[in-house]
Amino acid sequence: MTTLIYDLGLEALQTWAQNRGQPAYRARQIWEGLYRHLWASPEAFTTLPKRLRTALAEDFTFEAFQPAATLVSADGETHKTLFRLPDGAQIETVRMRYVRRRTLCISTQAGCAMGCAFCATGQMGLRRNLTAGEIVAQVLYYARWLKQRGERVTHIVFMGMGEPFHNYEATLRAIDILNHPQGFALGARRMTISTVGLVPQIRRFTEEKRQVNLAISLHAADDDLRSSLIPVNRKYPLADLLAAVRAYTAATHRRVTFEWALIRGVNDTETQARRLAALLQGMLAHVNLIPLNPTRGFQGEASSRQRARAFCKVLTAAGIPCTVRLRRGIDIQAGCGQLAARESGAPDFVLKSA
Ligand code: SAH
Ligand code: SF4
Repeated sequence: MTTLIYDLGLEALQTWAQNRGQPAYRARQIWEGLYRHLWASPEAFTTLPKRLRTALAEDFTFEAFQPAATLVSADGETHKTLFRLPDGAQIETVRMRYVRRRTLCISTQAGCAMGCAFCATGQMGLRRNLTAGEIVAQVLYYARWLKQRGERVTHIVFMGMGEPFHNYEATLRAIDILNHPQGFALGARRMTISTVGLVPQIRRFTEEKRQVNLAISLHAADDDLRSSLIPVNRKYPLADLLAAVRAYTAATHRRVTFEWALIRGVNDTETQARRLAALLQGMLAHVNLIPLNPTRGFQGEASSRQRARAFCKVLTAAGIPCTVRLRRGIDIQAGCGQLAARESGAPDFVLKSA
């Protein structure tokens, strides 16, 4: 199998060019072609000598996957594409439009091993990790699409299929590629990693002191409830998780977003809200409340609008910033079938349904 070109960093491309007897600046030209001009095939690289274009075609593939289906939400602002990878694995990528934001929600794995009860991807199990290039290729797909319309990707959230910290290296490599100033140059602050709460990786991420935003999928404020929804909580219980997050905010001074899918009668109660407020007391935090997107493998229902507001009120009264998110793209089962507007710092929304 030939190498996917997006799997290479600039340095690796330079090595390749050298091995091909080319000066290093050719690698820079290829890099710019890929990530600035968004060229999608070797033939497009007209700035290169023909011989080098042929070499690119011989050594690399430019196509990570084929789009298998695209769904568009009723309001036309959310698109979800299902991509089929060469080995038959499938992933989803979502594009959301909100005012000036053009946010992509991308996958880091085909499926997921974490088995969260309420999550469509979790119910599927893990098929495999994506490579950095396969993660990057999802961004390029929509970046090209937007470019034709004179627009650019403004934000990326790693909230599609999979647990980004269970595929740590590839995810962070993809971020480095997308962040590269001579290429795609998307600011790290415009990217958000969402994790189910893998403590060692949160600690590692803290040490790296990156500008990338961190979101934690919390969903419950006591261990019994959280373990019943999120099996990995047995391995990394709340006390350990929150200690790691506190260490992160202390080291980086960056605000952490906590994700909370409101499940009627399960985690939307006054008691849970109060416990959550106590857990997050004094922390540089923000809570994102998202009504559950019902999935086939889980009995739970979404909370009512009223309940969501009441829950939010308890938190804000305790001094913890909180937003209730609109279930965007709900009619197309966006994201892992559960997307809201997740980018931190997005404006408040009113619940559309539930
Ligand atoms: N694995 C990572 C990122 C992908 S899931 C994580 O769990 O954080 C992205 C977000 O969607 C997470 O906050 C997850 O808890 C949430 N989610 C999953 N299934 C959902 C559902 N059915 N309804 C609402 N949110 C859901
Ligand atoms: Fe995996 Fe996140 Fe879904 Fe849990 S919520 S199963 S970690 S994708």
